Amino acid sequence: MTRKFRRREFVGAAAAGALLGPACLGKQNKDNRPFSASEVRLEFLRPKEIDEAQATCPTIFQPLGTIEWHGVHNVVGVDSVKAHALCVRAAKKAGGVVAPALFGGVGGLAQPHTFVMEPENSVFSNLLRPWLEQLCREMARDGFRAIIILTGHYGAAQQIVVRETAVRMSRALGIPVLGTPEYMLAIDVNYTGDHAAWGETSLMMHLYPDTVELSRLGEPPHKGVGGRDPRESSAEDGRLLTETIVSRLATLARNMPAWDEKKLDAFIDAEAALVGRQLSAPRGKGSVWAAWRNVASAMHDYGRHLAEENFEQIKSSVAQL
Ligand SMILES: [Zn+2]
Repeated sequence: MTRKFRRREFVGAAAAGALLGPACLGKQNKDNRPFSASEVRLEFLRPKEIDEAQATCPTIFQPLGTIEWHGVHNVVGVDSVKAHALCVRAAKKAGGVVAPALFGGVGGLAQPHTFVMEPENSVFSNLLRPWLEQLCREMARDGFRAIIILTGHYGAAQQIVVRETAVRMSRALGIPVLGTPEYMLAIDVNYTGDHAAWGETSLMMHLYPDTVELSRLGEPPHKGVGGRDPRESSAEDGRLLTETIVSRLATLARNMPAWDEKKLDAFIDAEAALVGRQLSAPRGKGSVWAAWRNVASAMHDYGRHLAEENFEQIKSSVAQL
């Protein structure tokens, strides 16, 4: 019997209400040695290493971003390379593998060296949504039991498309699929998302220090930058944001494959409530950002609640958006 057939039986067991998958061994591997995957990037793994990674922790990360102007001080690939680096750090901590980052998504600034694949504020995605759906289907078919889609690019429509697709694929595949921007995991450490400003620039100063040139910034206004003055960025702030985000991603990656049906349903309910609110708040005509006005206070503890599996708390926070 092949591994694939056993996996299929596993899906059948999940449908019957059994555990969805083995709990990740976290920092211990099968031989009880500390977990230390030297390579977690899927495209650099051979079949045997993928089998071992799946046996230890069947979680896969999918980083998302695009090619977009990020000020004169940052590289244009910030969103994808930042999301990828965060996922790699989480996988090295918890287990799991990281799929290659996707460059391309919904929106992008009207600035040079930006590839706009779909309109900025359109939630009617024809490219990203079906691509993500098929990626999730293939990941599940290959034996992964949990998927974390982390988008480092976060226009409102991009966030909605990613989270809505994740919720629908969780339902359709019967495994947890989380689709979130990384800043949502760090609101309680004062990062509410920005564009090439203090948050993203600090993250890059920590993750890829050689790529940031703060000296190229003149006096404000800084062209194509949105948020707190990037001249206040520091590698130390980036380290704090990184540690918060990575520790939550690692906890999720470790635990998600073992969620039972009840937990999966509670997770889906909370995430569906969040994206439902984000989608419906404009009432079909207002700003697509309508559900973000209160995000700093209403979703202050989203990252902690998610990692601690307090899905009811998330659901009640959504009511305040
Ligand atoms: Zn960005």
